[in-house]
Parts: sequence; structure tokens; C-alpha cells
Amino acid sequence: MADEECDYLFKTVLVGDSAVGKSNLLSRLAKDEFHLDTKPTIGVEFAYRNTKLGDKTIKAQIWDTAGQERFRAITSSYYRGALGAMLVYDITRNGTFENTRKWLRELREFGNPDMVIVLLGNKSDLVDLREVEVEDGQKLAQQENLCFMETSAKENLNVEDAFLQMITKIYKTAS
Ligand code: GDP
Ligand code: MG
Repeated sequence: MADEECDYLFKTVLVGDSAVGKSNLLSRLAKDEFHLDTKPTIGVEFAYRNTKLGDKTIKAQIWDTAGQERFRAITSSYYRGALGAMLVYDITRNGTFENTRKWLRELREFGNPDMVIVLLGNKSDLVDLREVEVEDGQKLAQQENLCFMETSAKENLNVEDAFLQMITKIYKTAS
């Protein structure tokens, strides 16, 4: 869909430690319309996803790091203009949950002050390997005023819901 056919264009970003599932979440979300553009110079990729909210068509541009998070080399241009963020950790690795505070600081430092942040505990299908309890995610989300969901990119659980929640909240904030 061309830009002129949508009512709103929202930039959103994926953040979180390496291997938490950001790129798999992106491919779930963009599966219907997968144009993965690569910007090799800054190490960023993005895809688009259209959503209908009432009679409005919202086009979300979803940015994914091209592995830059590994080197803590995400630049401020990644966050610039983003209205929404999906902050992802892996429920099977506590360290990725602990690092969400670092990612939050970065989002708040470089991002838009009213950025809608959705905290996602991904890999919810790996119940036997769980290190982070659902309540831990809920508690953090409550403290930091974030939306929260556990997701599985693998099983396609809650991925749509989480995204819709973010887009709806951005729409309400922006309009
Ligand atoms: P990124 O580095 O954050 O972009 O993470 P990737 O999307 O590349 O995923 C890292 C690894 O985790 C890959 O081996 C994926 O197959 C796996 N993975 C991603 N999401 C899930 C999930 O929801 N469940 C399970 N079991 N594995 C996942
Ligand atoms: Mg990735």
C-alpha cells in the first residue's frame, strides 16, 4: 500500500537484548506485507504493517536492529521520531529481563517523551525453561507504566494483540 493510501504513518521500534526474538516478532507482524528494507550503513532494517482501526488505515513502520544491540551500537537515529516501542526480553533468560531497565533508560533518553512502550516477555512457549515469572513482568510494567504481555513468536501467541495494543494507544495519543 502506498503512503498516500494510509491515514497515519507511525514509526515504531523493536529493542531488547540479542536473541530475545525481535526479528521473529517482526516477521510475524509483517508476514502479510513483508518488505524488509535494509539500510546497511546504519545497521537497521524495517518492515511495514498496515492495520485498520475503524475507518482509518494505519501504516506502521517497524524498525529492527540488524544485530547492533550486540555491540550496544544502536544510534539515536534508531529512536528518533518513534511513537511506539516493543521492548522484548526472553522469559528463559533472566539477564535479558534485568537489561530491560537499561533499554528503558535508552528509550527515554533518545525517544519521544510520549512514546508508547509495550513490554514483551517472549518465548512463552518454553514453559520448562522459564526463568522470569509472569508476575515479574507485570510488576515492572506497573512500576514503569508500560503495557505488558507474554508472547511467543514461534507459536504466534499474543503477537497480534500486543502490536494492536501499541498501535491503538499510539493512535489515541496522536489523534
Ligand atoms: P533477535 O536477536 O532478538 O532478533 O532474536 P531472533 O528473532 O533472531 O531469535 C533468536 C532465537 O530465538 C532464534 O533461534 C529464534 O528461532 C528463537 N526464538 C525467537 N522467538 C521465539 C519464541 O517465541 N519461542 C521460541 N521457542 N524460540 C524463539
Ligand atoms: Mg534480530
